Amino acid sequence: MAGIYLDNNATTRVDAEVLAEMLPLFTQDFGNPSSMHGFGAAVGGKIEWARKQVQALLGAAHDSEVVFTSGGTESDNTAILSALEAYPKKKSIVTSVVEHPAVLALCDYLEKKRGYTVHRIGVDGQGNLDLDAYRAALSEDVAIVSIMWANNETGTIFPIEELATLAKAVGAVFHTDAVQAVGKIPMKLADSAVDMLSLSGHKLHAPKGIGALYVKRGLRFRPMLRGGHQERSRRAGTENAPGIVGLGAAAQLALHHMQDENTRVKALRDKLEGAILEAVPNCFVTGNPANRLPNTANIAFEYIEGEAILLLLNEHGIAASSGSACTSGSLEPSHVMRAMGVPYTAAHGATRFSLSRETTAAEIDQVIAVVPGIIERLRSLSPYWAGAGAAPKAFAPTYA
Ligand code: PLP
Repeated sequence: MAGIYLDNNATTRVDAEVLAEMLPLFTQDFGNPSSMHGFGAAVGGKIEWARKQVQALLGAAHDSEVVFTSGGTESDNTAILSALEAYPKKKSIVTSVVEHPAVLALCDYLEKKRGYTVHRIGVDGQGNLDLDAYRAALSEDVAIVSIMWANNETGTIFPIEELATLAKAVGAVFHTDAVQAVGKIPMKLADSAVDMLSLSGHKLHAPKGIGALYVKRGLRFRPMLRGGHQERSRRAGTENAPGIVGLGAAAQLALHHMQDENTRVKALRDKLEGAILEAVPNCFVTGNPANRLPNTANIAFEYIEGEAILLLLNEHGIAASSGSACTSGSLEPSHVMRAMGVPYTAAHGATRFSLSRETTAAEIDQVIAVVPGIIERLRSLSPYWAGAGAAPKAFAPTYA
């Protein structure tokens, strides 16, 4: 499928170098790493190589702190359930209102079905965490804090080190869902108060279905999957060796390209955003403009539907994403937009453009050339649009 792919926070293309590292694992080095023969040993060595690459990307002190999983969702679930089991007397969980469903849905379940108290910390209009509410929620009853490093919709970055230090002060385990942050911003977990961290391969040019959970040495840990002794008994099941090696190669490449991501990609993102804001009236950037992932632009276009924007972009071969939770069958704006208090009429038109190191300047120029026309066309059909800066034509709805 050709076109301009600006939906890299949803998933990324597997890098050709990553695929090349993986292919021999299917037909040549296909042994089971637990087997006591050469076929197994060859694979075991590659898995340990991959672990070291992930360790390096995270700036972790020990390679044994990296546990391979099936992805971000499994890592998030494992981290939270591990802490609850390791500290059975503690009955509270602290998280934020803007987490990914991989954390939020589990917390909802634990609250409704298992009787835990869940503190969901709110955010301000830029998506920054309410630090006073966070401090107030911390107590010795908190088994685990799970707060994302960076938000998948807006790219807003949370002050993870400060949050982790505060959590540790009350004896809580600190976990961060860093699925969107790993590979995009530098990390040094060896010097950090973070106890556990989730990452996902398919967000950094490795395949889907592979990820890792960082578990700090010495942390009390309880596995979610029990069975064989793989991953030092922390995650049972025959290793996804091709995926693990792919993740290792992707981690190595991510480290290599980090500088590029933070300079060239950020410059392209800023150019895209600046040009759209200049050419299109009644739109604004959501999230914290000064503290965001370098690849993410989320622009709310007033008085039109994100889904319509995506369809017209798609007609031009451009892939982006909407902030609306249309996957859940409802056309309500996403929980992130709502939590930030983005007005209903703008939250519906929130559109996320997420770049990667593959994004070119020519692609960004093409997107800049078509977006204003798309928005104008849709606004001409909108029952609310009355012209730049004018009050809406009809009574605009608010949140239910
Ligand atoms: N956490 C965040 C912040 C994400 O963006 C995603 C994926 O979109 C996940 C978790 C889930 O990761 P996976 O798809 O690897 O299960």
